[in-house]
Amino acid sequence: MAPSRLRSLCACPACGSDLAWSDAEARCSSCDGKYGIVGGVPLLLLPGARPTRAKQWYPGALEFVPTRLRGLAQQYRDRLKPDLTYKSRARRCLIADFVTSLPRDAVIANVGSGGTDYGANVVNLDIDNFSGVDVVGVAENLPLKNGSCDAVILQAVLEHVDDAERVLAEIHRVLRTEGLVVIEVPFLQGYHPAPRDHRRYTEEGLCASVEQHGFQVMRSGVAVGPGSAMAWVAAEFLALLVSGRSTSVYRFARAVTRWLAAPIKYSDWWLDGHPMAHVVASGVWVIARRSDAARGPAT
Ligand SMILES: [Zn+2]
Repeated sequence: MAPSRLRSLCACPACGSDLAWSDAEARCSSCDGKYGIVGGVPLLLLPGARPTRAKQWYPGALEFVPTRLRGLAQQYRDRLKPDLTYKSRARRCLIADFVTSLPRDAVIANVGSGGTDYGANVVNLDIDNFSGVDVVGVAENLPLKNGSCDAVILQAVLEHVDDAERVLAEIHRVLRTEGLVVIEVPFLQGYHPAPRDHRRYTEEGLCASVEQHGFQVMRSGVAVGPGSAMAWVAAEFLALLVSGRSTSVYRFARAVTRWLAAPIKYSDWWLDGHPMAHVVASGVWVIARRSDAARGPAT
């Protein structure tokens, strides 16, 4: 997004006031908060707001690889690790179709975006200055003005945040009245901290959560099917089962059992369309509209 347009949307993460911009920093006009700008990306974070990775998480099987091959293994890590989720074309395009369903000049915030690119009208926000990120901030304290967005994307984020209720309240705040949000979350997936992993949702629970925060559910469904859930759980279960209660054997076994279990995911090619797929789905989604009917005027 063009810097001038981005700056017109941003607000102080401490008090919500307007920011005065220079090349090196953004300064709050009200509380005098100062925020750095690195490589053109404003770091609109409060001290200590960025979450740290959970301790003692699985460090990978890299240490089992001979030292001289570790660089190569690191480089091809993603290809050496099979993807345990299968998404049909319709499932893969959920977010892109949501974006194209909106007017081309709609302001869309992608919260927890990573390096994704859904278009020039999308503000990419994440907790770190990854490539492709427009503004650094946390979802519980969005550095965006009230009612500044036409839509918000929250894909595979709500399970990782410290305070999901506050995130939903923040999304409600930054959306204009009748603005839309698309949320994708896991239901049955293994533990995967990024940087933490706190919760899961059924489709019903996700819909209830957004309704409690003043949204009207438009549509919901299965984001990733039961076969992918089974593949992930089977890979972890088999690794635990054969590891003899040893963490180091588990780490090695996991690298193998992921390959053994991965083909199960292709059952989603057929199961995805099952009307009851949500009962053991890997992930679910909802599209909801900011509704102010029961909450008074826009905040
Ligand atoms: Zn301020």
